[in-house]
Amino acid sequence: MRRRWDRYHQADDEWRSDFPFAGLQRYAGALPPQNAETGMAAAEFAALTQALENYYGRGARGTLNRIGHEAFALLCAGQPLTIGLYRLIFPLLASRRRSQIGLSLVARELAAPAGRVIVQRDDQRWSLLDYEGDATFGRARDTAICWATLGEVQAALQWATGREYDVAETACKAQGAPACRFEIGGELG
Ligand SMILES: [Zn+2]
Repeated sequence: MRRRWDRYHQADDEWRSDFPFAGLQRYAGALPPQNAETGMAAAEFAALTQALENYYGRGARGTLNRIGHEAFALLCAGQPLTIGLYRLIFPLLASRRRSQIGLSLVARELAAPAGRVIVQRDDQRWSLLDYEGDATFGRARDTAICWATLGEVQAALQWATGREYDVAETACKAQGAPACRFEIGGELG
């Protein structure tokens, strides 16, 4: 959780500098401690996401999507050896396998330290099932709301395959689903 928070925090200078941290002022200048209290961290992560939505209003979806893209870039920057190795072997792999590798990187990060996030393939398509849904903690909505995670998944596929894919969150824990489900559709463009 700490690592993910860290990346989101870094990913947007705007809300780092003048974001009104509703109820989270103590984190304006210092990140939360690294510990095993994932429930509390998830609650705060969700509160931070909600505050960000309040602040950006209708622009929140695009902002969170962009933060997701940047968060994936920071995730890669944090493990240069692994990423370099994948770059070397990617030309030898089919795009289906490369997609799986990209999605697995995101899944591992979402699941840390001990959560459940699954990458699976059915009906000829990949999907990612996030049973943690950090951004949905304590939030009930009519629609799917995990826009930052959606952005991370898009960025991972783009990194792995060099192409853009249609990604949709077709079920969300905020809607009462057991997991947030991200389905990978066809190539865009
Ligand atoms: Zn969701």
